[in-house]
Amino acid sequence: MNQTTEKIKLAIQKSGRLSEKSLELMEECGIKISNGNRKLKTEAKNFPMEILFLRDDDIPQYVEQGVADIGILGENEVWEKDKDVETIEKLGFGNCRLSLAIPKEEEYTGLDYFNRKRIATSYPKILSKFFAVKGIDVRIEEIGGSVEIATGIGLADGIFDIVSTGSTLIMNGLKEVEAIIKSEAVLISNKNLSPAKTELLEKLLFRIKAYKNGLGRKYVLLNAPNEVVPKIVSLLPGMRSPSIIPLADEGWSSVHSVINDDDFWDIIDELKLLGAEGILVIPIEKMIQ
Ligand code: ATP
Ligand code: ZN
Repeated sequence: MNQTTEKIKLAIQKSGRLSEKSLELMEECGIKISNGNRKLKTEAKNFPMEILFLRDDDIPQYVEQGVADIGILGENEVWEKDKDVETIEKLGFGNCRLSLAIPKEEEYTGLDYFNRKRIATSYPKILSKFFAVKGIDVRIEEIGGSVEIATGIGLADGIFDIVSTGSTLIMNGLKEVEAIIKSEAVLISNKNLSPAKTELLEKLLFRIKAYKNGLGRKYVLLNAPNEVVPKIVSLLPGMRSPSIIPLADEGWSSVHSVINDDDFWDIIDELKLLGAEGILVIPIEKMIQ
């Protein structure tokens, strides 16, 4: 029988802020990718996948054309390049915002401040759409990088750029005056995948979702006297409801459930007050719902 297995081609950033996290995500999905990212492409060991290492700016075009089937990159680049691709899933890393910033000594008077001003950016499309909707006339100076120095060298009156902590702005004598849009890494896909590739994408997506579901959650096991179990159950919602297992020690039960990281300390304190003992808190690697 002559059976060819189709491989799905995934494009990720060659080297930059998203590279390591993209490879880590594949690893969490059980997909082993051997080489460092020095080569242009490589193959996964245990999943029908080929990995292309590219500049993030080029990924939307390659995915649109089908050179790659799917890609991982920041939403900011997806919006800016505006190619005919599908955004499949937010991935929960590479979080940042696109903001307007001006020299710190300037007095900011609201968006009208930018009327007839020059703004330097690598995101001219997103920026011009934003100001068109607001009906404000701005001069956009498109530059490829080091946008934060544009005001200092007299190229522009303000900048529109990616901000995460804001320290780069401060170092360059700028202040953030408007956060326009939030961005994170996403998985995008070509719109005309073959049935075999669609199936592979679904398989991958299933794994990504299981990984994301586990993030920010913990598995809790504890022992408690039967009479307080109903109160404990009301604190531990679980996926459906907590599991309650009788212990050999009569009058006691073991309760198992899933809690959110954010509620962790509050819930643990309350559980102790109720008389829970032997509380075990375990990280969740994957969670299938
Ligand atoms: P390439 O060589 O691939 O074009 P790049 O210089 O465009 O790289 P990076 O600086 O590595 O890109 O950023 C990649 C993506 O990481 C950004 O497009 C954005 O989505 C995300 N990101 C998250 N936080 C930041 C940040 N503080 N500065 C820049 N990008 C960030
Ligand atoms: Zn780039």
